[in-house]
Amino acid sequence: MSLRVVSAISELREALMAARRSGASIGLVPTMGALHAGHGRLIEQACQETDWVVVSIFVNPIQFDREDDYTRYPRPLTGDLEFCEARGVEMVFAPEAGEMYPEPQRTFVEVRGVAEHLCGRFRPGHFQGVATVVLKLVNIVQPDRAYFGEKDAQQVAVIRRMVRDLNLPVRIVAVPTVREADGLALSSRNQHLSAEERRVAPALYQALQLAAQRIASGADDPAEVKRAARALLDQHPEVRVEYLEIVDPDEMQPVAQITGPVRVAAAVWIGSTRLIDNVLCQPASLR
Ligand code: AMP
Repeated sequence: MSLRVVSAISELREALMAARRSGASIGLVPTMGALHAGHGRLIEQACQETDWVVVSIFVNPIQFDREDDYTRYPRPLTGDLEFCEARGVEMVFAPEAGEMYPEPQRTFVEVRGVAEHLCGRFRPGHFQGVATVVLKLVNIVQPDRAYFGEKDAQQVAVIRRMVRDLNLPVRIVAVPTVREADGLALSSRNQHLSAEERRVAPALYQALQLAAQRIASGADDPAEVKRAARALLDQHPEVRVEYLEIVDPDEMQPVAQITGPVRVAAAVWIGSTRLIDNVLCQPASLR
């Protein structure tokens, strides 16, 4: 079957109704486009687990806290459609902003607590914009399963909590982070890095791995682990740390002591590009 591309919600709903009538289960992969192998992993898993896969490509204006980030976000739609077609996706939903927001949005989803720290602290309104658009997409597509990357672990936690709190009939599937050979997590924003910036970018993952090693070998003081990871990043004057935090994996709250599984998460700026990454860590006592 060849790929169908729709930009109207009504057309999408009609096609989905027919698919559902034929008994197909539906998978949703929400993206902002500029697709890479990380998105590819989500799509592949969706294709394995559901009969009919919808990839949404929408650069959601209400989740951007900086105008320049929104305007310079890459939008290579033709290549993205080829990418989806090659992977057997049934449908791409690529609406204009006016289709998703025909009037000023007055209703927003706020997930308290989970969205408070990490990116939530530094990107005001970001997770409210994410939760709101994901709720809209879930209502439009009514998927059986929706797929998200662990690279954005706080986003997954926010969405899981929204789904529980609002009793949404969808299963959230989290997919492991896809990385370059040198450890850098794939991201649509990596293409903004200059050659020199790209060379230092793997330091982010190296710092997280260093933290994971310390935790695995028994370190239970978050301050000490963070100091070691930061020291690695501080070796690179091009890297500016926005945050480096150790949180519990469900509530995303900083921990006072490492006694169970934790996520070490960081955001750094390299030049004018902001990169985030995280790793799930098991303390020595639980291994
Ligand atoms: P984005 O287009 O950046 O909004 O990402 C769309 C989805 O792809 C989100 O659920 C991301 O977490 C996921 N994603 C982005 N990069 C990666 C990656 N390197 N590995 C796995 N999933 C990813």
